[in-house]
Amino acid sequence: MISGHTKIYAVLGHPIGHTLSPVMHNRAMKALQMDAVYLALDVPPDEVRTCLDAMRIMSFGGLNVTIPLKEKVIEVMDELAPSATLLGAVNTIEFRDGKLIGHNTDGVGFLKASQSAFGESIDGKTVFVLGAGGAGRAVALTAASAGASAVTVADIDEARASKTVEEIKSAAPTCNTSFVKAGSDEAKQACLASDWVVQASPLGMKPDDPAPMEAGWFRDGQCLFDLIYMYPETVTMKEAASAGARCSNGLGMLMEQGAEAFEVWTGRTAARHEMMCALQEAVYK
Ligand code: NAP
Repeated sequence: MISGHTKIYAVLGHPIGHTLSPVMHNRAMKALQMDAVYLALDVPPDEVRTCLDAMRIMSFGGLNVTIPLKEKVIEVMDELAPSATLLGAVNTIEFRDGKLIGHNTDGVGFLKASQSAFGESIDGKTVFVLGAGGAGRAVALTAASAGASAVTVADIDEARASKTVEEIKSAAPTCNTSFVKAGSDEAKQACLASDWVVQASPLGMKPDDPAPMEAGWFRDGQCLFDLIYMYPETVTMKEAASAGARCSNGLGMLMEQGAEAFEVWTGRTAARHEMMCALQEAVYK
């Protein structure tokens, strides 16, 4: 029931109709019997400052921020948490004592979901990341900062992969890092040599997409984490599993980044099981 005390939470983006965040957060709020509601609001980049000022006055409980606002909102924040500083982007806004604090839970979402899927941490692992866009860059930087011994970044755009590698060198100087061109034999060898492989390219989102990495890129004992979450088993997971790798899709990462945001806003333990069930019902129907 909406009451005069209902606390408002929201995700801001442009466009925003596709978002799954309301599904999981409203389920979590219901599970914890909170007098709260989570909405999806379309905010054009030029209006984001005006909107955030208004939301501060209206005592919003907390916000998520998605494409194309993740970098844009930084200039409006009063403070940045270390997670947002590391990634140069904000996906979670906390209202604390009238101040806007920018956080980024994408990295910890990846770390928690992969640890939960594989039963081991990324610390000391060699990691191959395919795709250096927004998500791949966040994963590569987080993996290096969380103690991965080596991170190789591959992208069809070599300049983008190279830029991510320079950022890793600066943020995690002890991590052994390099870039390769996606699809090359060098990339295949680097993938085969790695303990963990992260698929962060968009290939596999459409049902008839080919796998960006075939079975010959994988081996027994490896772990593949595919960020794509719209299928229980993605096309890359099929290839990797046939070579003996353990595999996970990205739905757990989507849930964990949301759960971490929920905990930043409320200080309460998020209802992870309910959030995951809500996502599975919405995505796999
Ligand atoms: P993005 O910003 O568009 O980045 C994708 C990157 O991959 C781009 O640099 C792109 O290059 C490159 N690329 C395209 N085809 C490639 C290929 N065959 N091999 C290697 N690199 C290739 O997208 P994003 O936001 O990072 O998202 C990437 C994927 O992660 C999407 O499937 C998205 O749904 C998923 N994702 C999942 C979560 C989660 O919580 N599970 C969170 C965020 C994103 P070009 O730009 O030159 O094409």
